Amino acid sequence: PYKGPLADEVFAKRKKFLGPSLFHYYQKPLNIVEGKMQYLFDESGRRYLDAFAGIVTVSCGHCHPEVLNAIMEQGKLLQHATTIYLHHAIADFAEALASKMPGNLKVVYFVNSGSEANELAMLMARLYTGNLGMISLRNSYHGGSSSTIGLTALNTWKYPIPEGEIHHVINPDPYRGVFGSDATRYAKEVQDHIDYGTSGNVAGFIAETIQGVGGAVELAPGYLKLVYDIIHKAGGVCIADEVQTGFGRTGSHYWGFETQGVIPDIVTMAKGIGNGLPLGAVVTTTEIASVMAQKIQFNTFGGNPVCSAGGLAVLQVLDKEKRQSHCDVVGSHLLERLKSLMHRHEIIGDVRGRGLMVGIELVTDRKEKIPAKAETAVLFEKLRELGVLVGKGGLHGNVFRIKPPMCFTKDDADFVVDALDYAISTL
Ligand code: PMP
Repeated sequence: PYKGPLADEVFAKRKKFLGPSLFHYYQKPLNIVEGKMQYLFDESGRRYLDAFAGIVTVSCGHCHPEVLNAIMEQGKLLQHATTIYLHHAIADFAEALASKMPGNLKVVYFVNSGSEANELAMLMARLYTGNLGMISLRNSYHGGSSSTIGLTALNTWKYPIPEGEIHHVINPDPYRGVFGSDATRYAKEVQDHIDYGTSGNVAGFIAETIQGVGGAVELAPGYLKLVYDIIHKAGGVCIADEVQTGFGRTGSHYWGFETQGVIPDIVTMAKGIGNGLPLGAVVTTTEIASVMAQKIQFNTFGGNPVCSAGGLAVLQVLDKEKRQSHCDVVGSHLLERLKSLMHRHEIIGDVRGRGLMVGIELVTDRKEKIPAKAETAVLFEKLRELGVLVGKGGLHGNVFRIKPPMCFTKDDADFVVDALDYAISTL
C-alpha cells in the first residue's frame, strides 16, 4: 500500500510552491500514485479506468513493462551526453520514426514537448518560405509557449502578448461550423483570408487532424486537400500537428492526416510518442530541413539516450501489439455504443471521432446546440465516483473526451458507456 503524502498535504504544498495558473480536475483533486496499463490508482488503492491517458499521452499503457525496461536499461548505461557525441539510440529512433512516414518526410528533429515541436515547425516554415504569416484554425490548440500561444485559438489558453502575424480561419467543424461539412466553402474562406487579410503570401498552415483540446472535433471531409493546395499556391508549407492523433490512435491510419488523404510538408508530434516521457519530434523533407543548416540548431535534451530508447520501444510495442487495428476495433465499438445512447439521452448532442480519439458533446437543446456546461460538470464528477476518468474539452467545457491508453479493451469501452448511461439517468 501507498505510504506517501496524502491529497490534502500535496494540494497545500502545490498551492504554496507551484504557479497559480495550475488547474486540476474534480472538486476534490485526485492523488494518483500508481498506473498500470489502462488503470490508475489513488492513494487509498482505489482503481480507476483511465479514459484520458494523461491527456492523450500514455499510448502503450501506464508503465508498460517493455517501455519501462528500455528506459531503465539505457539509464543504467548512459542518461545523457547530447548530440555533440555519437550515440546509437537517437539514430535508431530517428530511423524507426522516419520509416513510419509517407512521401519525402525523412528528416527528424527531436525536442521535448509538443509546444517545442510546433515552435520549430513554425521557424522552419518562416525560414523556408521567407514569409511570416501563419494560418491556423479557430478552436485549435498548438501549445502554450510564447510563440505557439499565437497559433492556439481558444481564448481560455491565450495570454495577451504580441503574437506575430497569425491568422485564424473559420473552423471546418461539421457539428458547429457555419458551413456544416462543406469543405469547399471552408477552403474558400481560407483563400479569401489570404487574398484580403495577407500580402498574398504565407509561411504556412497548421492544423490538428482531429482537434484535441477543442473537443475532439474532426475536420470536414476533404478539407485538408483543398487547403493544402491553396497554401502551396500562396507560397506556404503545410504542417500537420499529430501531437494527439498520431501513432495509430485514429485506428484507420497511423497518422491523422492520412484520414484526409494528404501528405504534409512538416509533421509535429509529442505525447503518445513517449508513452509519458518528455519527448517531441518534428519530421520534414530534406529540402525544408536544409534551411536550418544556415545556423546551428541545438536542443540539449532532444533525443537524449533515455528518451530515444523509450521512444523506440514505444514504436515497437505499438507495432507488436497491433495497436492501430486494435484502436479501430475498440473505437468503432465505442462510437457505435455511444451513438445508440443518443436515442435515450437528449443531452448528447454529438458523438464523434475516430478510433480511440472520441468526443461526446453535451447540449441543453439539440437544435440550438446550447452547451450543457453545468450538467457536464455534474456528470464529470459522477463518472469519477463510478471509477471512470474521462477528459473535458471544448471552449465551454461541455465535451467529454475519451482518449484512453491504446490497450483499452471492448469491455473497458462498455464500462465507460454503461457508466455514462447510468450517470445521465441520475441527472
Ligand atoms: N499540439 C496539440 C494538438 C496538443 O494537444 C498539445 C498539448 N495539449 C500541444 C500541441 C502542446 O504540447 P505540450 O503540452 O507538450 O507542449
